[in-house]
Amino acid sequence: MEYEDCYRQAKRPKYECLLFDLDDTLYPLNSGLAAHCRKNIGDYMVERLGIEESKVSDLCNLLYKNYGTTMAGLRAIGYKFDYDEYHSFVHGRLPYEKLRPDPVLRNLLMSIPFRKVIFTNADKVHATKVLRKLGLEDCFEGIICFETLNPPEENSSSDQPDSNTNNIFDIIDHFSRSDPNTELPMTPVLCKPSEYATTRALQLAKINPQRTVSLFLHLCRRNLLGFRHEWQLKQLASLQIFFDDSIRNIQAGKRIGLHTVLVGTSLRAKGADYALGSIHNMREALPELWKEEEKDDVRYAEKVAIETSVTA
Ligand SMILES: [Mg+2]
Repeated sequence: MEYEDCYRQAKRPKYECLLFDLDDTLYPLNSGLAAHCRKNIGDYMVERLGIEESKVSDLCNLLYKNYGTTMAGLRAIGYKFDYDEYHSFVHGRLPYEKLRPDPVLRNLLMSIPFRKVIFTNADKVHATKVLRKLGLEDCFEGIICFETLNPPEENSSSDQPDSNTNNIFDIIDHFSRSDPNTELPMTPVLCKPSEYATTRALQLAKINPQRTVSLFLHLCRRNLLGFRHEWQLKQLASLQIFFDDSIRNIQAGKRIGLHTVLVGTSLRAKGADYALGSIHNMREALPELWKEEEKDDVRYAEKVAIETSVTA
């Protein structure tokens, strides 16, 4: 018996948690929701923020590229609006009927013996609705979403739109100059692909609470920008797997040490440990997800280094 107990203690879970993006990761891009979402964002900018229609496309591209989401960018350059109203406008009219229950994915997720958490930039209403439509609402332990990363007490957004357009930073003009000499304004919105957003998600997911406390303390000491001892973050991140369809998000996850799975393409880009044409290919590409325990962390670390070339 004594021998058996020692053996059990020596075995440690290979992973602690799997973080899954939602949109275009748990359902395919060709569902059409993403295209509708882009149109709704443009309509919001014109109808609610008074932005010239001819500028919307360029503005969206610049804001998305520089701030992670158009919404985060709009706030950075000076637009003030109610977050719930924005989400309701952009997501509330999406054709959710295009999403169908996915029993194959449900069975896959339910059979993985590790904790699973959603990590999305979208709002909670949208995330809940999508999961319900896909029949996956009980497959995840929690949802880290816009409201989780941007709790109401930390939001400084006004309920009313800013009527003074003189206060808006002209980002199109900024990038049209050959040598822009002003810095881009900061956004108050926390979202992927910010490395801090991903690090914060690890903390919010209550991943390995003991290590997470020290992680959080280090974040505070570094003014939320990083770690004095990077290995601590790497050590924590090395027990997590992050699935996302965005290469930017994947690369941010990789930089902090997560195992990364790019979904929606079978071409493995830099920063992605694995690439899945579809989330349905999980089992073929990552069979280790169905093996709960590994004898020790050292052996696992060696194994990962070899397996990083797997593409499915
Ligand atoms: Mg996505």
